[in-house]
Amino acid sequence: MAELLDNLKQLVELDRSFGIEFQGKPAVLPGEGLGASAAGRTTPVSRPPSPVVPLPAANVAPAQPQAAPGSQRPAVPAASGLAAADLAAIASAVAGCRACGLCAQRTTTVPGEGAPAPEVVFIGEGPGADEDASGRPFVGAAGQLLDKMITAMGFARSEVFICNVVKCRPPGNRAPEPDEIAACQPFLEAQLGVLKPKVICLLGATPLKALLGLSGITRLHGQRQVWRGIPVIPTFHPAYLLRNAEAKKPAWEDLKAVLGVLGREPPRR
Ligand code: SF4
Repeated sequence: MAELLDNLKQLVELDRSFGIEFQGKPAVLPGEGLGASAAGRTTPVSRPPSPVVPLPAANVAPAQPQAAPGSQRPAVPAASGLAAADLAAIASAVAGCRACGLCAQRTTTVPGEGAPAPEVVFIGEGPGADEDASGRPFVGAAGQLLDKMITAMGFARSEVFICNVVKCRPPGNRAPEPDEIAACQPFLEAQLGVLKPKVICLLGATPLKALLGLSGITRLHGQRQVWRGIPVIPTFHPAYLLRNAEAKKPAWEDLKAVLGVLGREPPRR
């Protein structure tokens, strides 16, 4: 009973931190987590494990990273140099990248930010208008909610790393196309190769599909997955939670699952 009351108290505190009153009813989760691109995806597809950061040698350009002529792949440090490559080098490569059409309308690139050796990495879909203007991930309304989620978990934003599947804003905040995700994937994989988090938290359907090849965030949220040996917990995108308050309760359970991977519980308030 004490544990039940404690969980209830934590939920109330989280909902308050999310900016709403606690809704003590079962969650009814409409549709997919975020974006029209998730519609209709119900069958998980297993993806065979990949070697660490499969980057063609032709894309290696550590000093002035640029895409190889005719290549659709962005230039990032080679796998052999990743141990020594820092996040600034990857961000620099992102800044010069024109490997997909999203470069055409971007104001600035949004590589991601946070601790260089975090326990948790949060991965969203792509930059929105605020992020495109500032060059920082999750700084709009959804970002403010993500900040509250991170705080509720007992972390400061500076203690985790936050990034997106694509580093340039899709026009009109549409979901990134598969070819755009594929073009940008080496950057994400390079970041994860440097960061080496203890757990990855995927925010919505797009990173679930991009990193794991799985569809169905409504069904798979909170279920532990693995990417190259790293535990992965999918949950809903904060933008989805802003529109669907009833999903905050299961999202909080997902965040507790993230903490569970670390052997932690939410801080008492
Ligand atoms: S979205 Fe990624 S692959 Fe496309 S231009 Fe931007 S950095 Fe390059």
